[in-house]
Amino acid sequence: MQNCIFCKIINNQAAASIVYQDEICLAFMDIQPVTPGHVLVVPRQHLIGLGDLPPEIGGHLFQVGQKIAAGLKKSLTRCEGINFFLADGAVAFQTVFHVHLHVIPRFEGDGFRLMFGPDYRKLPDRSELDRLADDLKLVL
Ligand code: 5GP
Ligand code: ZN
Repeated sequence: MQNCIFCKIINNQAAASIVYQDEICLAFMDIQPVTPGHVLVVPRQHLIGLGDLPPEIGGHLFQVGQKIAAGLKKSLTRCEGINFFLADGAVAFQTVFHVHLHVIPRFEGDGFRLMFGPDYRKLPDRSELDRLADDLKLVL
């Protein structure tokens, strides 16, 4: 894909600080890290989102993410915990439309926050959870 920055990195047409690569994926440092050590794990194939991702490639991205996470914990990077994050769609904050797994090192006081909607603290009752589960089970 000509205009995809991650394809350019994969094809050596754009610079990146690569930490790991194999025949399926590449992992490199995020240019605007949430915390120092933030890594992106990206399939070599240009796939836009979760729905395009064959399960074996998705599984591989997760395994490489685990490997990076274990490495971060052993490295000099401050890393007391890890967040995995994957944005599928613009509404979910996807800005680069080549699917990627974020591996984000976390430490006390790093300043990274999640914000929840106004109804977050109102717990749904069991019947509502069951209704949602039944609806979803029908299509799985
Ligand atoms: P998204 O919002 O799609 O989940 O995440 C895209 C990520 O790609 C962001 O964290 C952003 O900083 C990173 N990014 C965007 N352009 C570049 C680039 O040219 N090089 C690198 N290494 N990361 C990039
Ligand atoms: Zn791409």
